[in-house]
Amino acid sequence: MRRIYENAAYRNPKTCWWRDTAAPAQQPQLEGDHRTEVAVIGGGFTGLNAALSLASANVDVTVIDAEQPGWGASGRNGGFCCLGGSKLSSALLAHRFGKYQRSVWHKTERAAVDHVDALLAEHAIDADRHSDGETQLAHTAHAMRDMQASAAEAAAFYGVAPEIIPVQELRLRGLNGRFFGGITLPIGFALNPAKYYAGLVRAAQRAGASLFGQTPALSLRRIGDHWRIATPKGNLTARKVILATNGYSSEDMPNWLRARYLPVQSTIIVTRPITPDEQAQQGWTSLQMCYDSRILLHYFRLMPDGRFLFGMRGGLRATAGAEAALSHKIRKDFHALFPEWREVEITHEWSGLVCLMRRLTPFAGPVPDHPGLYAAMGYHGNGVAMGSYLGAKLADTVLGRQPSGPFPDFLTTPPSRFPLGFFRRMLLAPAYAAATVFDR
Ligand SMILES: Cc1cc2nc3c(=O)[nH]c(=O)nc-3n(C[C@H](O)[C@H](O)[C@H](O)COP(=O)(O)OP(=O)(O)OC[C@H]3O[C@@H](n4cnc5c(N)ncnc54)[C@H](O)[C@@H]3O)c2cc1C
Repeated sequence: MRRIYENAAYRNPKTCWWRDTAAPAQQPQLEGDHRTEVAVIGGGFTGLNAALSLASANVDVTVIDAEQPGWGASGRNGGFCCLGGSKLSSALLAHRFGKYQRSVWHKTERAAVDHVDALLAEHAIDADRHSDGETQLAHTAHAMRDMQASAAEAAAFYGVAPEIIPVQELRLRGLNGRFFGGITLPIGFALNPAKYYAGLVRAAQRAGASLFGQTPALSLRRIGDHWRIATPKGNLTARKVILATNGYSSEDMPNWLRARYLPVQSTIIVTRPITPDEQAQQGWTSLQMCYDSRILLHYFRLMPDGRFLFGMRGGLRATAGAEAALSHKIRKDFHALFPEWREVEITHEWSGLVCLMRRLTPFAGPVPDHPGLYAAMGYHGNGVAMGSYLGAKLADTVLGRQPSGPFPDFLTTPPSRFPLGFFRRMLLAPAYAAATVFDR
């Protein structure tokens, strides 16, 4: 597998809070020769949702993961099950795809959240849910004015009534930090991602899916009307194959993917449980999931056990030096926004890879010129809901059906290649520098 980051980006994180809360069963390694109708490469939310949908439709489906299902971003995210998935503004969505497709996209975002909500209920997955929708907090007075101005548009797009929170009410709501007010959209909830994917694994297996861990797809070859996936200890032959590798994709698995996706690191810290007194001192007692209005945004939430989760963009590299600098930066940002918690111990810290596409919209559809090969990826850091939904919708496509529910046409347009090829990561440095200036 030829991947664009240093090896450290593809290793186990030293600490990850979710791994202390749920220990899903390890799946065996694939050995010998196997046949299946549909092979899914990658066992995150995308792959597991595709597998669950296919197995529920009585299709013989096999998931292989290079590590274990849930090992990638799906097992290390912030657990915000929320709107999002594209980095295009609403104005640009309309400009590129027309107002109708934009409205379908916004319906898709909502449907994605509802999809996860329904899955948790249907499969009785207790994933420590909390938060009533999601709150955006303004990092400047100017940002607050912009948020107020966009409230009516958000109401129209999502069919809900956003709630404006003036700055003087933040403390009353238990949302006190260095912010200038906020806006809540009553869509979405927070979850424990490890409990969610562990529940998905159980549901997919109950429905009949076969799952394998420690089984990297090393090559993918078309033989007659089948695909042959070579893995370290055996081959998997399938009529159809789904690529669900997102930010952990490689340039040569298959070659078509080369430079069509851009993995980007995101980093999270989690504190020890913050006592009720310490919460009161900071004025932050709410379990609402929040993010700020910066382009390089921070996302954070107090969890039901009192621990605080705080995340932001990760480093441009995965070297020891870059990780140390990022570790310093994330603490600095956390303490700047929540100064009363300077002394609170940070017990867990980890990074993972999200995935950007050149067009800034996800892809979910057939891979051109590769009969029977499909992919879904590129959720721009918002894949808890969108990855789950598009994994399930891709299952419809694989079965030759129109995806049920909202699904904008542009999602099936094949992703184009980034400039700079293998070195496309370098595009991030000037983008981050410009955003840092803008965010002041
Ligand atoms: C730190 C962080 C915080 C985030 N926070 C949020 C959040 O709060 N809300 C939100 O909506 N989104 C968030 N995201 C993004 C979200 O986690 C992802 O969009 C989503 O999990 C993607 O799921 P996936 O199944 O497509 O990919 P992944 O979960 O990354 O799974 C890909 C899998 O493919 C496997 N793989 C790769 N290559 C091969 C191969 N050749 N053979 C076999 N297997 C292979 C990997 O081992 C991996 O398990 C966050 C991401 C990170 C990293």
